[in-house]
Amino acid sequence: MKKLFGVIGDPIEHSMSPSMHNELFQVYGINANYHAFHVKKENLSDAVKGFKALGFAGFNVTVPHKEAIIPLLDELDPLAKAIGAVNTVVNENGNLKGFNTDGSGFVKGLLERISMLSEKKVLIIGAGGAARAIYFTMAKEGPGLLDICNRTVTKANLIVKDCPYQVTARALNIEEAEHQLEIYDLIIQTTPIGMAPDIERSPISIHKLKSGSFVSDIIYNPLETKLLREAGNKGAEIQNGLDMFVHQGALAFKKWNGIVPDIKRMKDKVLKQLGGLSC
Ligand code: NAP
Repeated sequence: MKKLFGVIGDPIEHSMSPSMHNELFQVYGINANYHAFHVKKENLSDAVKGFKALGFAGFNVTVPHKEAIIPLLDELDPLAKAIGAVNTVVNENGNLKGFNTDGSGFVKGLLERISMLSEKKVLIIGAGGAARAIYFTMAKEGPGLLDICNRTVTKANLIVKDCPYQVTARALNIEEAEHQLEIYDLIIQTTPIGMAPDIERSPISIHKLKSGSFVSDIIYNPLETKLLREAGNKGAEIQNGLDMFVHQGALAFKKWNGIVPDIKRMKDKVLKQLGGLSC
């Protein structure tokens, strides 16, 4: 029988996940189908019951359901519990178990570009769900400093306080981070600022960017945000959110099918859909 997978979110029509996963099912000869479902907040509980009743093998969860889905699941992976958000659900014989592959997906993509994180001074911009997942996973890697800045500093403070791993860290406002930008080797941008259609915005001024630093923006539409363009012009190495996207998807694919998929193939598929060259 065909295995069923999906992604739920609101909005969902621009999701790249169906084409990426359906391509993998073809490549690995898996009799399965992955579909995008538009689920509004008020229908989330019914949708989860529906997935269970219909015997879906697993599904992804995106904005705005990553936190709200937690009480609707039967079991939670400890990292997803600490992060407080789920992006991947596995149906284990009728038991729905929630995982978070966003942070690990980000770090895997990052480690393809830089050799190690210990000693590195890191700044994360933003303190939403994605930032929380990335912060906790980065903290586990033991960087020399892991600062976080956000428009609402109380949210950044909460992430530092809740982090289950010991790391030297500070919660800052955006201006404080801007004034000391030259201390950071690695800057990770996690807000939606700069995302299409609002592509001429940037979340932070980079006048004081350290030469030779690495700037990663988890947005992948556009493939080069204003922040990345400015950082590249100042000689920084840059990375967009495509690597994180394919790696979080690859980790979900492995949980569902027990196969480590071909990352390059996944990236090419998404790039083709986005119609551009990656950085
Ligand atoms: P979220 O939970 O809504 O968090 C948004 C963050 O951005 C918050 O820190 C928020 O600050 C800040 N922010 C939003 N609008 C702002 C503004 N106008 N000025 C200043 N700060 C603003 O969202 P999320 O789930 O973390 O997702 C964030 C971004 O990551 C989205 O663009 C999403 O598409 C992308 N993402 C990419 C991947 C990938 O695979 N590449 C995976 C997940 C998410 P406040 O706390 O002050 O509100």
